[in-house]
Order: sequence, then C-alpha cells, then structure tokens
Amino acid sequence: MALVVTVLGSSGVFATVDRASSGYLVDIDGHALWMDAGAGTWRNLLTHIDYPELEGIILSHRHPDHTSDIWQGVHAFKYGKTDPLPPIPLWTTSEALSALNAFAVDIGEAFELRPVKAGDVVSFAGAEITFFEMKHVPGTVGVRIEYAGKVLAYSADAGPDGDLAGLAADADVFICEATYQREGGDWEGHLSAAQAARIAMDAGVKRLVLTHLPPGRDHGRSLDEAQAACEGLQVELAYDGLRLEVDR
Ligand SMILES: [Zn+2]
Ligand SMILES: [Zn+2]
Repeated sequence: MALVVTVLGSSGVFATVDRASSGYLVDIDGHALWMDAGAGTWRNLLTHIDYPELEGIILSHRHPDHTSDIWQGVHAFKYGKTDPLPPIPLWTTSEALSALNAFAVDIGEAFELRPVKAGDVVSFAGAEITFFEMKHVPGTVGVRIEYAGKVLAYSADAGPDGDLAGLAADADVFICEATYQREGGDWEGHLSAAQAARIAMDAGVKRLVLTHLPPGRDHGRSLDEAQAACEGLQVELAYDGLRLEVDR
C-alpha cells in the first residue's frame, strides 16, 4: 500500500530557472494523478512517467501558475498517439472550468470535466479525496488525500482564513504554500512561512513541506522562519524532484 508524491514544481507565482511553477505527481499504488499543472510541470512529469499512464488530474484553481501546462496534456491526449487517448477525469472548480473552456474548448474533448467545490469527496484508485475551501483570490480548493490510513494534504494557494485546520488535521505530510517571508510581503490570499508552520503545528501535522516559494528570495530564510515558529515539527523546503513517501 503506497502513497507517494513527487514535487514537479515548487516555485510561487512564476517559474524560475531552478523551479517549475506549482505541480505534483501523486502515485497511489501505481495509479498516477497530476495535481496542479504550472509551467514546467509537464516536462518534469515526463521524467517520471509516460503520459498515457496518467489516470486523473486535479487543478486547485484557475491561476496560470497552476494551470498553464494543462494544454500540453490536452494536446498529448488528443494528438500524441494514432488515436486520441480515452479521456481521464479532471477535477477542478467551476470557475476554473469556465476559464479553461473559454481559452480552448478542446479541454473537454481530452478530459472528463468534473467540477468540484469545498466539501466534495471523490474516489480515485481506492483513495478518498476531499476538497476544502481555501481563501485566495479566485475560488480555490485545498486537497486532502486519504489512503490506507495515511493522509496527504495540499494547501494550493491559500490565505490564512480558509479551512486550513480541516485540510491539514493530523496529516502525515502537509504540502503548504509559503509565498512570502517576514520582510517583503503580506500578500493577500497567501501565507508566510511562519504562518504555514503555525497552521501545521496546530493541526497536528507530522511533516511539513513548504512550497510555492518566492522567486528571487533566499529560501533558507523561509525555512528558518518556519522552524522558529514551530519548534519540534519536521519542516523542509520542497524542491522539484523531491519524492515524499507518505506511508513511511
Ligand atoms: Zn500560485
Ligand atoms: Zn493562485
């Protein structure tokens, strides 16, 4: 029984030379789920699996740093083989579906579009996936994946006022955004590294992974600020290619 997540992109807001924008590859006993599709994540995904192995996609919200590479998947599923591949489910918010459909309707030909909102629960490969309301600028869902008694939680983009406590409650691994640092920010609809740490501590998280890291900043400072806010909690920085075994 294995629940493993690999970071495909860990940069906040836009991709850098070292980090793709937001994206994760979740592997549930060999069943592959692409969670957020920021710029650069498609190429990184292809270093781990071949795209026909994908069985599902989740997009947390419509912002381009979480969705722009979905079009690589659309074209691959439609044109990559002699015949189009069978559509796989794509779960995202109604708002994101409207925006993506307005950009190019062929997303609905490549994938089965399934709108979700906070409180919805879907099944994937024997795992239970629950969506939580995050406070961000557009409608955004946090994602909690429970499998074989283990919990992976992902904040997507989130300000401090959403249901982060419910999302992260007793999570074995919590991948949480940490977009800004003590100096240089207070970005509406985002968290600082210290806020992420306090939320994780209060929620009883076992392992906190900071992501959506600010471009052009010393990320060691994010780690220091988080560690200072949650003594005793295991906290680390995401990086592209980081593999997290949730069932350990
Ligand atoms: Zn973002
Ligand atoms: Zn966003």
